[in-house]
Amino acid sequence: MKKNLVACAFVLFLSALVSFQVSAASTTRLGGQDRFDVAVNVSKNGWSSSTTVVLANWDAYGDTLAATPLAYKYNAPILLTKPASITPRTKEEIKRLRAKNVIIVGGPISVSENIVKELKNMGISVKRISGNSRMEVANNIAKAMGKKSKVVIADGFNFPDALSIAPYAARNGYPILLTNNKHLLENSTQSLINSWAISQTIISGGPLSVSNTVYKNVPNPRRFGGNSRYEVSANIAKAYYSSASTAFVTKGSIFADALTGTVLAAKKNAPMLLIEPNSLPASIKNTIINIGFDRFMILGGPISVTDSIKNKLDNEIVGATIMLDPGHGGTDPGASGNGLVEKEIVMDIAKRVNSKLNSSLAKVVMTRSTDKYISLDQRVKEAEKADADTFVSIHVNSFASSAANGTETWYSARYASSESKELAEEIQKELVKALGTNDRGVKEGGFYVIKNTTMPSVLVEIAFISNSSDASKLASNTYRQKTADAIYKGIMNFYN
Ligand SMILES: [Zn+2]
Repeated sequence: MKKNLVACAFVLFLSALVSFQVSAASTTRLGGQDRFDVAVNVSKNGWSSSTTVVLANWDAYGDTLAATPLAYKYNAPILLTKPASITPRTKEEIKRLRAKNVIIVGGPISVSENIVKELKNMGISVKRISGNSRMEVANNIAKAMGKKSKVVIADGFNFPDALSIAPYAARNGYPILLTNNKHLLENSTQSLINSWAISQTIISGGPLSVSNTVYKNVPNPRRFGGNSRYEVSANIAKAYYSSASTAFVTKGSIFADALTGTVLAAKKNAPMLLIEPNSLPASIKNTIINIGFDRFMILGGPISVTDSIKNKLDNEIVGATIMLDPGHGGTDPGASGNGLVEKEIVMDIAKRVNSKLNSSLAKVVMTRSTDKYISLDQRVKEAEKADADTFVSIHVNSFASSAANGTETWYSARYASSESKELAEEIQKELVKALGTNDRGVKEGGFYVIKNTTMPSVLVEIAFISNSSDASKLASNTYRQKTADAIYKGIMNFYN
């Protein structure tokens, strides 16, 4: 959530009223029964009309891998067809767009001459870009785009790396050239590169996709590699989209949904993140968290990208930065009693909260993750520096009388008062419910870390270390996990 809570109380007050609606994570699925529907839905989402349409075979990705920069150049959606005649839904969409030109990518076996005739009968002028191989098709697309200072090279015989780089290549007008089935450049491709004064060659994929021989023979190469298609996609996003808020998400093992979405991604200046149908690969998950994307366009129906992934991306917590502050540390042990030390308990619980938030795609920053001393002022500064959206300080309580027991959560009325109170109430409610402790309530108070942080912030006192019953609970792993789950739930409630 790229929400800059500025340190002006009045603006804070205003943003408190609107920010949680405005910055809400949002996820749009561009799905459909099949790839034709997905292509049409992408087109409908991105274009109310379009002079030009790029038309490609529904099944022959080789010819179309290089088509995205060309389509982007003409602000044209890519639509798909079966080879013999135009697929009816695609024909309808060409009519809706009121297209005057169609660029067919691929030879007559991919998109037949009969289709050319059909289009001409619709009053549309048709241009075909083809070649004797997919590499040549790519070269011819590049030539049609005109001389460029940079080119992109990707594997011509596997699609993921080309799809991952396509939005970036398209947005910047760089053509995509393809390697042959030996992961080398054809002579015609190499001479094309040599004849242009290329200042940089961007290679999408590791040496098994685009060989090191190619790397050595092109001007000023920059390679995006990785151990998997997911890592390549994540690395491209990290390099070129670190300030973007929207990302496209699609299944990395099929090409069709992603292909038609690449032009729309280019229009929205968003990366293409490849995922597994039912899970986010670690590299993609970390990229989402670290860049802080909070708007997602899903390409493909629930079989390609499941609803459970969609719901996860849809959660308001995605894109948020949560500062967790385990109290004390190092030379400051905090309270102790009944064989327990506060700094150790709160560290353990904070780490458990961290891992829960992380799996929900929130970015977590810890004031400390080891047993070291940090001043209260440093904690506040860290939270401001991290541009945290919420701040949660975790403590355990102690009192002279061992009879005192129970749970309380504090907020300060100084900054983001109503949001802080709401966060405190959500966490307190979940803690009491999960732990069955004495509910000491939500309290307003001036603890340094919550008084001086400008974002919604709370300080949790889980239980009393000085009370033997509370302390025996604090000693238990099960109880600590329950505590972490409850703090996590309270934070999630607050965001949702
Ligand atoms: Zn404390």
